[in-house]
Amino acid sequence: MTRARAEVNLAAIAHNLKLIKAKSNSQVLAVVKADAYGHGLLSVGKTAESAGADWLGTALLEEAILLRKGGITKPIIAWLTPLGEDFKSAINLDIDLSISSIDLLNEIAAAGKAVGRTPRVHIELDTGMNRGGFGDELETIISELASQVKSGAVKVIGIWSHFARADEPDALLNESQLERFKYRVEQLKAAGIVAEYLHIANSAASLANPNSHKNIIRWGIGLYGLSPDVDNMGSSSALGLKPAMKVVSKLQLVKAVKAGQGVGYGSTATTKADTKLGVVSMGYADGIPRNASNLAGVFAAGKRAPLIGRVSMDQFVVDLGASSLAKTGDEVIVFGDGSDSEYTVDEWAKACGTINYEIVTRIGTRVPRIYSRE
Ligand SMILES: *Cc1c(COP(=O)(O)O)cnc(C)c1O
Repeated sequence: MTRARAEVNLAAIAHNLKLIKAKSNSQVLAVVKADAYGHGLLSVGKTAESAGADWLGTALLEEAILLRKGGITKPIIAWLTPLGEDFKSAINLDIDLSISSIDLLNEIAAAGKAVGRTPRVHIELDTGMNRGGFGDELETIISELASQVKSGAVKVIGIWSHFARADEPDALLNESQLERFKYRVEQLKAAGIVAEYLHIANSAASLANPNSHKNIIRWGIGLYGLSPDVDNMGSSSALGLKPAMKVVSKLQLVKAVKAGQGVGYGSTATTKADTKLGVVSMGYADGIPRNASNLAGVFAAGKRAPLIGRVSMDQFVVDLGASSLAKTGDEVIVFGDGSDSEYTVDEWAKACGTINYEIVTRIGTRVPRIYSRE
């Protein structure tokens, strides 16, 4: 085998899609941005489509274009397009776009005119996250927006927003964002702008807040079998989700080392006893965070072996223990669904002071994705 691979179980992806379809009456948009959170854009996109996803969504336009050219026929939204993107291709390929400023609307409308087709757009509202979307400035531009819509320059398909704290279901901000959303939708309606679709829920809201479902839910991290927030919402297994990615690497060297030896750059960790160390063939160039602590590690020869010392660019070291049967050349599990007692994505995230989203998304391009449908 290669020195490292990411095994992606597409049956788990299909399971996770069907799980949320069964819980909601809304249409489901499978979020496949960032190369499907590192799992592989087209393989995941096609699996989600055949498992019943009604929509696909990406941040970048180029990812939406790859999906359409790759054979996806369901509606696709690309929601994060700066000015100057290739809107003509987007419109020709039937890709829905999002608007959050009049400048963007004008560019998209002009591209539509140039190709002789009406662009399909979703109006993004800022309801309290203070990131993308029309916020209070909507008051001043609403008539301009309405006149563009009435002239037929664009067709408004959806109105949408995004939660800042959906992974904290008790946060009061969730309710206030829903109220603000409703108020703005009414305001747009009064100006003559109506949309067939309203959407605001991400995975956390899809799981925890049925009142937020509207007619599309955007299913991201849950599609990959990971919990939006283990502490507030429970683990993958408690939620019935199946983690889809397993990362496997190799011990390129196993050797005996005496007690009291510093390991790796900066000698930041020291062997506590005579032990065996294993050198694993992945590093931060492959997406293993440099600040991972010994709360993570690998599963080697039937046991957990914690990481010791700093992660290097192409390798890291684990403490196998004196009695380990692991040997040079063995495969090790970096993370998986935990069913064989291996470390999970959530444990790696905790060990690195980050979230599971970042761990899977950053597994690098040097690590081939191998697909199964177990
Ligand atoms: C990434 C993203 C999502 C998905 O969020 P999850 O927490 O992964 O479900 C939904 N909507 C938008 C606009 C996003 O950018």
